[in-house]
Amino acid sequence: MSTDYMLQLQNISYSYHTLHGETHVLQNLSFGVKDGEFVAVVGPSGCGKSTLLSIISGLLAPESGTIIVNNPDGSIHYPKVGYMLQRDHLFEWRSIYKNVILGLEINDMLTQERKDYVNRLLEDYDLYNFRDKRPSELSGGMKQRAALIRTLALDPQLLLLDEPFSALDYQTRLSVSADICKLIRRTGKTVLLITHDLSEAISLADRIVVLTKRPATVKCEMDIHLTLADDSPLAARNAPEFAGYFNKLWEEMRNAENE
Ligand code: ADP
Ligand code: MG
Repeated sequence: MSTDYMLQLQNISYSYHTLHGETHVLQNLSFGVKDGEFVAVVGPSGCGKSTLLSIISGLLAPESGTIIVNNPDGSIHYPKVGYMLQRDHLFEWRSIYKNVILGLEINDMLTQERKDYVNRLLEDYDLYNFRDKRPSELSGGMKQRAALIRTLALDPQLLLLDEPFSALDYQTRLSVSADICKLIRRTGKTVLLITHDLSEAISLADRIVVLTKRPATVKCEMDIHLTLADDSPLAARNAPEFAGYFNKLWEEMRNAENE
């Protein structure tokens, strides 16, 4: 693989060991992520997608294989990673503002500059007027946006999103994913998004990595190029190429599940 990848996974394998035995989850899995790229990972339920993110974030160590880092400036330090999960995990006893600055507080990074940045994000995400509210006073979409701000506040280079929209109803999901995508694009961050929603993957990503069922390995990769009226993910769903990508991906997923 060439060095224009910021992150390269090479032959990653992983198994869980429990009292009930061994679950072989990842098998010789390899792919790369370029700086500034938005990559979506899709694959059958239970194939190992969340495990893969835990390995990339450093929470789990791979059994074998290597992760190679080439930053654009030539350095090889591991990128600063922000990890956002399916559930928003906001704390009810803290206000929205106190929730979004939690990571900064814990990491002793609560400078004026960071506070200004958080306030700007709250404004951009239409949450500024809700900063003194409790999570239960917000809609699902607003809570998810707050969770994203908490992740972005630490200014990660690499964003890992594990089915971040799946707890939302369909309507909210469409508009929240569109919003969030636009905001992430504006920051120029590198993103790895896990989703089981094929339309979401096509409308948001530059490239889609399809995994096989467990033990997961890369089945195929698909570059996405859409002719767009504007650059919103909603417009993406009306792009002339959309249906073709969808059918191809659907076919790959069906094969992945039946193989
Ligand atoms: P996905 O996110 O693709 O749905 P996961 O990575 O969560 O899949 O899980 C992959 C497999 O590993 C599943 O069969 C799951 O039951 C198993 N698994 C996940 N976490 C653990 C764990 N902590 N201990 C044992 N098995 C696990
Ligand atoms: Mg998962």
